[in-house]
Amino acid sequence: MAENQPVPTDAQAAAVPTPANPATTTEAAEAGASTGPTKGELKRRAKEAEKAKKAAERAAREEEERKKREAAAAVDNASQNYGKLPLHQSQERTGRKFLKFDGLDKASVGQQVIFRARMHNMRPQGAKIVFLTFRQQTHTLQGVLVVSGEKDEHQVSKQMLKYAQTIPSESLVMVEGVIKEADVKSCTVQNFEIGVQKLYTAVEVGELPFSIDDASRPESDFQRMETEDVQFSRVSLPTRLDNRVLDLRTPTNQAIFRMSSAVCNLFRDYLNSQGFIEIHTPKLQGAATESGASVFKVQYFNSQAFLAQSPQLAKQMCIAGDMERVYEIAPVFRAEDSNTHRHMTEFMGLDLEMAIEEHYHEVLDVLDGLFKSIFKGLKEKFAHEIDVVAKQFPCEEFLFLDETLRLPFKEGMKMLKEAGATDSEGNPIGEMDDMSTENEKLLGRLVREKYKTDYFILDKFPLAIRPFYTMPDPVDPTLSNSYDFFMRGEEILSGAQRVHDPVVLEQRMKEVGIDPAAMQGYLDAFKLGAPPHGGGGIGLERVVMLFLKLGNIRRASLFPRDPKRLAP
Ligand code: ATP
Repeated sequence: MAENQPVPTDAQAAAVPTPANPATTTEAAEAGASTGPTKGELKRRAKEAEKAKKAAERAAREEEERKKREAAAAVDNASQNYGKLPLHQSQERTGRKFLKFDGLDKASVGQQVIFRARMHNMRPQGAKIVFLTFRQQTHTLQGVLVVSGEKDEHQVSKQMLKYAQTIPSESLVMVEGVIKEADVKSCTVQNFEIGVQKLYTAVEVGELPFSIDDASRPESDFQRMETEDVQFSRVSLPTRLDNRVLDLRTPTNQAIFRMSSAVCNLFRDYLNSQGFIEIHTPKLQGAATESGASVFKVQYFNSQAFLAQSPQLAKQMCIAGDMERVYEIAPVFRAEDSNTHRHMTEFMGLDLEMAIEEHYHEVLDVLDGLFKSIFKGLKEKFAHEIDVVAKQFPCEEFLFLDETLRLPFKEGMKMLKEAGATDSEGNPIGEMDDMSTENEKLLGRLVREKYKTDYFILDKFPLAIRPFYTMPDPVDPTLSNSYDFFMRGEEILSGAQRVHDPVVLEQRMKEVGIDPAAMQGYLDAFKLGAPPHGGGGIGLERVVMLFLKLGNIRRASLFPRDPKRLAP
């Protein structure tokens, strides 16, 4: 009898004709038999009854065995090696060291390890093996889960294999196993893999708006769709920003924000080594300190306040307060309706201000030394991150010279004129015109071609296109002691020697049409006497965007703020 064939019921058994079954004899009589069954017939019936009884007994035995077999299979000797962990409430502290993938080396081979990671993806191979990819920030490690024999000390059961395949992508898993040598192409850790012995889900994740793989694709993947039989989903920038938590997990973003942090650290390290101190200036102000046009107004109890559009006045006041050399890393707010790839309404300002001994080029030297130290630090210590970003945003290496190119503004305009650059109305540019964004970019290309650098300084800007507090040039008053720094043809720093004399400052205000009474606070700061000084302001996100050539400043901001975005 087949395993699942039903056992005859009592009723069926009762219907089997037997000598002891009066119903059967009555039926025979009713069928019109004049005489009783023959002896041979009775014998045959008895034999059949005996056969049916044996068959029923055999079926019952087989059913019993089937149940036993099923029960045995349900016993999972590996059940303690996998499953969902209870809510982490800091239940215990074992002191075990958790593995970080970037710490794997030859000495790790054969070691028993434990780690937490994201379940990046999985790939079953046949009924007994599953390949898992675990992810930690910019690193991925292959895990192999193989069904093992019952005698294996670290048993992996079929049920465990099945469980592994039900863990949703992006869940946080706790993994234990042994590191082995391997040759893996699909992960960033290529020489090692982990033989998984225990696999627990620590935090399970629901449906995802997009996959990390799709969010990590370079443009070249989409170009392949035109020539090859492949299909990829493009994740738009707004979708990424709406789901920034998930988007931040891409290896590219992990690398971008490590570099952003590095720029701040390198900025601090260099300026600390040059005798600067870090300051913290207020972002809530009672009056617009530079120009009223681009400040956000906020309700301040029963009156109004403004969000600082730069720490300009505060850092100058520190110089007037004899602090000599100061810097700040803090948010800057701009109420400008600029919907461009390089403007935000809130960005991180890296600002500095210092007293000048003889010449404003002392400031230029410090700023230049600062930038070179940032670029060197990034290239030396963040080569891995640069490579990771380049996989999604490939670009030419950022070039800079040992001796930075310092181009007078007029010289830059001359180069542009010779290259046929025009102003916004299509007229040939004049040497004292403001430089449009397009012309800045063109100049960047011309400079790269001629001087082999993506980083240079434009010095001596026309006074007319700089803020009122910029110090005029002592020889040519149409020029000023001011400068801009450029990376890949885009401005990353604006700075100058400031006017520290209150009389000259008041005069400059009048010249540009500012009512000195409206800027009394600014003027007062210099009445108690300030040393000559200068400085500059850098946009952190612009530096990161341009160094890595990300194409849009929002990619270098964790939670960008622009005229159309205030969340998340
Ligand atoms: P731009 O001409 O590009 O609008 P700006 O001349 O207004 O800049 P500053 O006010 O001098 O710039 O600010 C100093 C630096 O701050 C700039 O060189 C840039 O790196 C950064 N920055 C200025 N405005 C923004 C902004 N809206 N978003 C992001 N970064 C900015």
